[in-house]
Amino acid sequence: MGGVTVALSFNGNIVNTQPLKKEMEDNFKDFIYNCDSDLVCHKFLLGYKQSKDIVAAAKGVMESLDGAFSVTGITGNGEFFAFKDPHGIKPLCAGHDPNTKTLAFSSETVSLDMNSFVRDFELNPGELAIATKDGFKRIQVIENPKHAFCAFEFAYFARPDSIFNGKYVYEIREQFGRNTVKEYQDVVKECDIIMSVPETGDDSAMGVHEASGLRWERCSRRHRYVTERAFILLNAERYSTIDKKINILGSKVAGKSVIITEDSIVRGDTTKVIIEKMRQAGAKKVYVFVTFPRIIGPCFYGIDMSSYGQLVGSRHNAEEIAKIIGADGVCYQSIEALVEATGKKTDELCLACITGKYPTPCAQKIADAMKRRFQQGYEEKGRIYENEEIQP
Ligand code: SF4
Repeated sequence: MGGVTVALSFNGNIVNTQPLKKEMEDNFKDFIYNCDSDLVCHKFLLGYKQSKDIVAAAKGVMESLDGAFSVTGITGNGEFFAFKDPHGIKPLCAGHDPNTKTLAFSSETVSLDMNSFVRDFELNPGELAIATKDGFKRIQVIENPKHAFCAFEFAYFARPDSIFNGKYVYEIREQFGRNTVKEYQDVVKECDIIMSVPETGDDSAMGVHEASGLRWERCSRRHRYVTERAFILLNAERYSTIDKKINILGSKVAGKSVIITEDSIVRGDTTKVIIEKMRQAGAKKVYVFVTFPRIIGPCFYGIDMSSYGQLVGSRHNAEEIAKIIGADGVCYQSIEALVEATGKKTDELCLACITGKYPTPCAQKIADAMKRRFQQGYEEKGRIYENEEIQP
């Protein structure tokens, strides 16, 4: 565009896609929308072309996009930069290699570790970091008192060997496990062993084991070569994938009352298949300890759960979910315990999918409109929040 070039990468999801698409079509005659990166990149390019200033271009993006965006990029002049949305929904950290004097930005610290980079800092919400031939600068472009780091990163999405808030993610997940023991003492007393949903429930199983003294029986094993994620597959395919992927060593659960640890229940399919297998093997009782509280609403910020219909927790309480998946009980960690274990405060986290309170205004309007339509029986298909009739 007029000799100005920028390459940009982006982690997150944009909510107010319709007005942005229109703005880009008006400004770029060959604009084609394939994904949200096109919107972020063109919005940045537009601002950069007008101002020739990275700070102004990043500010324009931060002020006009509703959603989650952690962005890294480089201009045709060799200016290397990274910035985070004003709520700081997605992680983004910086590090350097002292030998080669190379700077790196990454969503998670694990990639800095694996590439032998020194971890330097996590970008603040609304912050921009720029490296040019003149040096390195950190600039707080937008001050926003309401931060909203995704709570689901702690429970499910982030790698266990990444560091958030000064702790390895797996350590926080172990604390989640200890919390569930404290919250469900009566259930713990009834049970003989713990088993995890491999590998998503492993870290919390360690915490449950430590706090309860129950043996963590490693009798659920994952097929190392079936790598599809059941989370994002279609129904029949999902069922058979889970069936192939997870093996239960029946003799270890026969006649026993078992706690299964799991990080979250989205559709409930994975846990249902596992419990079916345990029942066939003769398990006496099965309780599911779930570290992420009941998911009641969709996520518009980049986690693939975009409608109310696909979430078993949007229509059913814990007792009903237990019946649906064949468990004797579903024991969710409370929101308060989860927040405390993260080391953050409630108003520093996004808890939208478990509270219904979305940190960004467009997402809240869309969630409310979708909920009304869902309750009236409209069919939800795919990312319906991007449809024109839903967008405010
Ligand atoms: S809605 Fe849930 S999954 Fe999405 S960003 Fe917020 S906490 Fe994370």
